[in-house]
Amino acid sequence: MSAIDNLSTYFMKFPGIGTRQAKRFVYFLLAQDPRFVAALAHEIALLKKSIAQCTMCFRFYPHLGGGSICDVCTSDTDTATLLVVEKDTDFESVRRSGSYAGKYFILGGTIPVLERDPASKIRIRELLSRIEQGAADGLSEVILALSANPEGDFTREYVAKTLEPVLSQLGITLTTLGRGLSTGTELEYSDGDTLRHALKNRG
Ligand SMILES: [Zn+2]
Repeated sequence: MSAIDNLSTYFMKFPGIGTRQAKRFVYFLLAQDPRFVAALAHEIALLKKSIAQCTMCFRFYPHLGGGSICDVCTSDTDTATLLVVEKDTDFESVRRSGSYAGKYFILGGTIPVLERDPASKIRIRELLSRIEQGAADGLSEVILALSANPEGDFTREYVAKTLEPVLSQLGITLTTLGRGLSTGTELEYSDGDTLRHALKNRG
């Protein structure tokens, strides 16, 4: 295996990247200035050192030393609502829209339809304990903000069903994003207005 093949193998592990695209990335790098490649390698090496995963919401955040909980979880903003999103980029879209001021939880994926072991695909146990923890802090509503596609729907149903006993016991409401998100929409591609509308019309 040449260095071209070796590096391609790594790129092929990226989401949505196939053999041909992986090769294109490698040839792109070969055509670049050595400083570009060195800077990229440096940033990759730095990534794991400078970014940590929050133990409360599970998002990745710039770790400036100190605790293992991110700035959003430790801020004294609204603790009554918990917005559950699939991934970090969805969190970023909602943050950017400025339409939500509460807490977040990153589910870590969606469940493929017909999956036999749904609990292995998402952070459902972690979400349950986050909710129990939140109840002591005035949590009154959990909002499911998942993509409007078959996997998102399947995941929403599974999460709702699994959380139901705990939520009703704690007197916490479960809502989902309004139909402002059209079918097939991925949350991360929704613009600020759409997100604001969907949040306002949750139910
Ligand atoms: Zn956090």
